[in-house]
Amino acid sequence: MMHIINGKEVAQSTLLKLETMIRCIEASLYRAPKLHVYRVGEHPASMIYTQNKLNTGRKIGMDVEIIALPEEITEDALMHLIKKDNNDPKVDGLIVQLPLPDQLDAYRITNAIVSHKDVDGLTDGNLGGLVSQSSLLKPCTPLGILELLKSIHCPLRGLDALVIGKSCIVGKPLALSLMSCGCTVTVAHKATKQLKEKVQASDLVVSAIGNPNVIQPQWFKKHAIVIDVGINRLDHGAIVGDVDYQQCKQAGFVTPVPGGVGPMTVAMLIKNTVLACCHQHDLMDLYYEHFGEAL
Ligand code: NAD
Repeated sequence: MMHIINGKEVAQSTLLKLETMIRCIEASLYRAPKLHVYRVGEHPASMIYTQNKLNTGRKIGMDVEIIALPEEITEDALMHLIKKDNNDPKVDGLIVQLPLPDQLDAYRITNAIVSHKDVDGLTDGNLGGLVSQSSLLKPCTPLGILELLKSIHCPLRGLDALVIGKSCIVGKPLALSLMSCGCTVTVAHKATKQLKEKVQASDLVVSAIGNPNVIQPQWFKKHAIVIDVGINRLDHGAIVGDVDYQQCKQAGFVTPVPGGVGPMTVAMLIKNTVLACCHQHDLMDLYYEHFGEAL
């Protein structure tokens, strides 16, 4: 029997814990943890994503500010603002919403953020630290996926996992994290041969392709865990994942789109900001008290 993993519910219970923690931090620092979200221009998806981060954070008492910048801002001007925040003890975390306009180099800008405030976990320092399991702040979507897997109480050690997609924000960091959890990991991508056979052989499949026509629901093996990261807008406006989750009859667990990985990604951004704040202000005991190890 197939179970749907409710990402909204798991995210909500994480946010409730974070709300309590934010109150404890306020009692110590006389201020809430502060997140700066840089948005350049008015890219329609970026407007929605940044507003969602602001609303989710503020709802549980976090101090979130969107820094809205003009489309034509220069790299030097943006770097200057980031460096100012890097040195401001009252800003605990900052992110730059992607994509950026052409005159801005997303790689250079992301890496201008000091690693202990990089709450998206995308600087070279934090991504590289995944190899040695030493990074404090990890990318939000892989973190959210690990939390979803924890919520179904399935031991990961020994599972054959297939990660489809090899981007720096999802596929690569997730593959490293699953490896650290004891999975035997295969990473598939555009040039991968015999994808169907690889899906059929896997206990855990994570799809981060961004195309609803690649994976067929009948490919999954009996009791497989299927995590769908894809967000695809169809011609008539509906949002769907990479996989038609209602047709995954053989699977054991599947995530829906919307309502699966998406809400977890935002919750993990808030959690990373709380973690960054605790780390910078000598409050790690408080963090461990609420969340155990910093994943
Ligand atoms: P990306 O474009 O950087 O990567 C897509 C990957 O899919 C590439 O590695 C590519 O090789 C692979 N791919 C493409 N066609 C394939 C095929 N036919 N067979 C096998 N692999 C194929 O994208 P991304 O930034 O990693 O995002 C992937 C999807 O996840 C998008 O739909 C994006 O919107 C979504 N996303 C969702 C969240 C969330 O929170 N839910 C977060 C990040 C990304």
